[in-house]
Amino acid sequence: MAEVIDNEALFRHARDVIPGGVSSPVRAFGSVGGTPVFVASARGAYIRDVAGRELVDLVCSWGPALLGHAHPEVVEAVQEAAAKGLSFGAPTAAEVELADAVRARVPVAEQVRFVSTGTEATMTAIRLARGATGRDRIVKFAGCYHGHSDALLASAGSGVATQGLPGSAGVTEAATRDTIVVEYNDRAALEEVFASSGDRIAAIITEAAPANMGVVPPSPGFNFFLRELTSRHGALLIVDEVLTGFRVGPGGWLGLEGGYRPDIVTFGKVVGGGMPLAALGGRADLMQLLAPVGPVYQAGTLSGNPLATAAGLATLRLAGDAVYATVDRRSLELQAAVGEALSAASVPHHISAAGSLFSVFFREGAVTNYEEAKAQDQGAFARFFHSMLDQGVALPPSAFEAWFLSAAHDDEAMARIVDALPVAARSAQS
Ligand SMILES: *Cc1c(COP(=O)(O)O)cnc(C)c1O
Repeated sequence: MAEVIDNEALFRHARDVIPGGVSSPVRAFGSVGGTPVFVASARGAYIRDVAGRELVDLVCSWGPALLGHAHPEVVEAVQEAAAKGLSFGAPTAAEVELADAVRARVPVAEQVRFVSTGTEATMTAIRLARGATGRDRIVKFAGCYHGHSDALLASAGSGVATQGLPGSAGVTEAATRDTIVVEYNDRAALEEVFASSGDRIAAIITEAAPANMGVVPPSPGFNFFLRELTSRHGALLIVDEVLTGFRVGPGGWLGLEGGYRPDIVTFGKVVGGGMPLAALGGRADLMQLLAPVGPVYQAGTLSGNPLATAAGLATLRLAGDAVYATVDRRSLELQAAVGEALSAASVPHHISAAGSLFSVFFREGAVTNYEEAKAQDQGAFARFFHSMLDQGVALPPSAFEAWFLSAAHDDEAMARIVDALPVAARSAQS
């Protein structure tokens, strides 16, 4: 028998030795209150906490667990790789194979560079765009998250399009001065920004389909518009698929939407199969600007780590059409059940989806940008969240996150979730 530990006691101890008790802020339950679930193990659609309680998981490691937790073939691939050595600081054949697999699914990634985190992937993409264009400025959207590098931790000031303000203590004004923040889906604001300083803009970076302010799909044609606008002004288009890549379909959001070619694409989460691995890919002539071929420096001691590469390869190998069809179907089932339960309890809500990704906004009406995403009843979400948790279902602990399903969410796991919804919906009533 595994040792049984009390979550509360562990959280107290954790906060003594780790700021907030967590290694990444949203895990601390700050916006919903209460004690985070300390996970002891996970398998398929379930996680088990340190006290031995089993929960149906709708976080899925924030996306990577597309196949479910601890898929036997992925675990075996990692174990096999581990037995051959944990890290070499030298190239491996598996990296070449994974780059081939990425390119086969996302042809615009003509060449691929592996890094360890999504943050590194987008940070490098920005550096590459600046190096390639010789321009300083970048445009990002309010509510889009691209990791925590300084230039991308810019928040919007007031007004339609603003010079970025530091989004965190410790980020200097200099670091965000060249970041222009625009409201998502706002074409007029973008036209204005490019009309006034288009010749100084290196790139627009956008989430392929935003899912870090809740799920806010691009309005029809929006990504095509970004492509056209950047091309017209000699700027690059960086599409961040760290979250959507290989999750919403075999070729990510680009594979679903198709028809336009970004210059640089970033990947993370699913591509590492639950291990620390991320990547950027793009036009070969641009990628050739990266060191050692070109002048844009980028490096990493653990980049392309053999265990992470093995997990990514095994995951992509297993993530075929049947997996995506299952996740799509489960997503539709769950969206329908959540909508029904909240409607029956007369709780104002809007379910917003992009492919199999969806989130529930506790407000009426469609959400097209961050301003609207913020105008929801977070208290209602927190009550809903805790009721689900009490009933054995772990939702993402924030009203601004997508709910993640996996191919391992079978009828039984779905039934457990669906059975918990009516009580949770009543808890959410104001
Ligand atoms: C998670 C995420 C990142 C950051 O990835 P990390 O691995 O957490 O650094 C970047 N962009 C998007 C769209 C993400 O969802």
